[in-house]
Amino acid sequence: HVEYEELRPLLNRVDQQNRQIAQQVEELRQAETVRREFSANVSHELKTPLMSISGYAELMKNEMVRPQDVPEFAGRIYDEASRLTSLVQDIIEISKLDEKSGEMPFETVDLYEVVQDICQNLMLPSKRKQVTIFTEGKSAEIYGVRHILYEMLYNLVDNAIKYNKEGGYVKVLLAKEKEHVIFTVEDNGIGIAKEEQERIFERFYRVDKSHSRQTGGTGLGLAIVKHGAMLHHAEILLSSEPGKGTKIQVQF
Ligand code: ADP
Repeated sequence: HVEYEELRPLLNRVDQQNRQIAQQVEELRQAETVRREFSANVSHELKTPLMSISGYAELMKNEMVRPQDVPEFAGRIYDEASRLTSLVQDIIEISKLDEKSGEMPFETVDLYEVVQDICQNLMLPSKRKQVTIFTEGKSAEIYGVRHILYEMLYNLVDNAIKYNKEGGYVKVLLAKEKEHVIFTVEDNGIGIAKEEQERIFERFYRVDKSHSRQTGGTGLGLAIVKHGAMLHHAEILLSSEPGKGTKIQVQF
């Protein structure tokens, strides 16, 4: 004859296991939904520039474009093709992060070298937008996947330039704090409303579709940042105020 009191620890354990299983099922279900929505969005996102390209090309083929307008149409085709290239690159990157994160080449990476590289490569776009980049920091090594780290931090600095105002600034800071390396990017650009702050890390989510399109955005940049952070067990902190600016930190 077993008393209920004696069974209680066992029942508690079963209860806890059930909750864990339910949570895992829920996570899998959510991951599946994200994947399904992603495939649907991918086809839509790829179709848009492709339709423009074939539309413009068809007009040119049928000689429906005046000779003096040909350079403009060719330019539009070129722009849409560039967009398509960025999209395909980002889609490949995020799919790799989804499926092959176990096979990524981890090594010791000096994040300061990565940051310098990025700022160098973004110098021209920032000048075009009349945004000044300030960099501060020194050598800070972490164990990670170099090209993913580059991609993550590049997307963050690139956004800080893209969603800035003319004459704005972007501050990029790399600091060591105890056992953490903290990357900070701060801008005094357009900012992000509170209700959008969670959503911007979703795949293909953009606050302002047309603005993002004009700036050449794919809507996948921050999703890559989020996945890259998970791969490196890093935490992302965001604070932003519309009209004032945005600060994003990645704590490695
Ligand atoms: P995109 O390719 O559109 O830039 P991201 O995934 O990088 O896609 O960013 C998603 C959205 O988050 C952007 O479309 C933009 O609306 C918003 N966003 C990202 N970074 C910033 C920033 N620094 N300031 C203001 N808005 C931002």
